[in-house]
Amino acid sequence: MIQAPVSNELFERAQHTIPGGVNSPVRAFRAVGGNPRFMVSAKGPYMFDEDGNQYVEFINSWGPMILGHAPAVVQEAVMAAVPNSLSFGAPTRKEVEMAELIVSMVPGIEKVRMVNSGTEATMSAVRVARGYTGRSKFIKFEGCYHGHGDSFLISAGSGAITLGVPDSPGVTTGVAADTLTAPYNDLNAVQTLVDANKGEIAAIILEPVAGNMGLVVPEQGFLQGLRDICDKEGIVLIFDEVMTGFRLASGGAQQLYGVTPDMTTLGKIIGGGMPVGAYGGKAEIMNYVAPAGPVYQAGTLSGNPIAMSAGMAMLSHLKNNPEVYAQLEQTAARMVAGMEANMQKLGVKFTINRVGSMFSIFFTDKPVTDFESAKTSDTALFGKYFNAMLKRGIYLAPSQYEALFISTAITDELADQYIQANFEALQEALEIA
Ligand SMILES: *Cc1c(COP(=O)(O)O)cnc(C)c1O
Repeated sequence: MIQAPVSNELFERAQHTIPGGVNSPVRAFRAVGGNPRFMVSAKGPYMFDEDGNQYVEFINSWGPMILGHAPAVVQEAVMAAVPNSLSFGAPTRKEVEMAELIVSMVPGIEKVRMVNSGTEATMSAVRVARGYTGRSKFIKFEGCYHGHGDSFLISAGSGAITLGVPDSPGVTTGVAADTLTAPYNDLNAVQTLVDANKGEIAAIILEPVAGNMGLVVPEQGFLQGLRDICDKEGIVLIFDEVMTGFRLASGGAQQLYGVTPDMTTLGKIIGGGMPVGAYGGKAEIMNYVAPAGPVYQAGTLSGNPIAMSAGMAMLSHLKNNPEVYAQLEQTAARMVAGMEANMQKLGVKFTINRVGSMFSIFFTDKPVTDFESAKTSDTALFGKYFNAMLKRGIYLAPSQYEALFISTAITDELADQYIQANFEALQEALEIA
């Protein structure tokens, strides 16, 4: 049994000066019960907390650590950059090289602008799409997360063409009215929205593989269907690849599925662990961004030299070592096969969705294809399972509605350790269920 008195004490202290004790809500363990662990260091597949406990990592900072923690290629690039000052607020060679690298890797990007987070990337992309089309509304999908920008914190009303209502206090109904929502994988609902708002929709934005309602796979023809609607109606198609970019393939989900969006947003892996985001797309659209064009978007620390060094080292490594993706595929497939065998043996109702090195277990016997079906999962059982895994030194995302992110540091031996822990944790969770 892993004890965590130091983490518990820090969490208690944190609540006095930080809202909820954490700087991002997903880090709190509210959905699964218990207190978050406070981390000290991490290397390869392992993370170490304030209490000296060791965990095998399956979140990897929510995606960026695709090579495991503290990989030498990235660490050395950062260390080499530090003596030259941490920021200039003026252009650098590295930004040129980084832009060229991104353009060479991501099919839908001809020009790119660096920002500091995924949230900034999506907010900016929608602004540019609006500026480019001269239209106000956009469509997003239920259960897709695009950062915490006001216009993205919207859930659907009851009907497909109901205007959105804000998910969070502080988001005005005025903002919400321009966000239309449809169920994931539902092309008919999108067509209905487009018909009801003819000539008013600037953009359709989605996660081309959804990772923020648990992993949900785009059904055959869904991405191409959106591409066709956008072409016909002059709508800007935006793939939010903050999670999937450089993870599902070196060119992201758009490369994997062969559907090219007009704009792409990036984050997570692109910074190699530093706070970085980017948005890019067709030159014709990106030329609307200031100072080339009229749509304003700026950043004091954008293209920061340390962050660019980390990101470039990470992306160069992924571009030059395509075998990384074969390895990740093999590891993730091994883990999923082991879990499937475990759950059949134990008679657990489950659905596992996987694309490459991302997957989610849902405790439901229904196929999970959208947010509604994701919500059929037994979240109480997930909470017990999560804590039983943590006790066995396996670090998962503390929510049913997240994916696991496999890194190249997970060896076959560690995958088998995970599978064994999965069996024991399920047994334990079922007994107390
Ligand atoms: C994480 C994420 C974001 C937000 O990125 P931040 O860097 O946390 O602001 C946006 N879109 C998707 C798909 C994400 O997974």
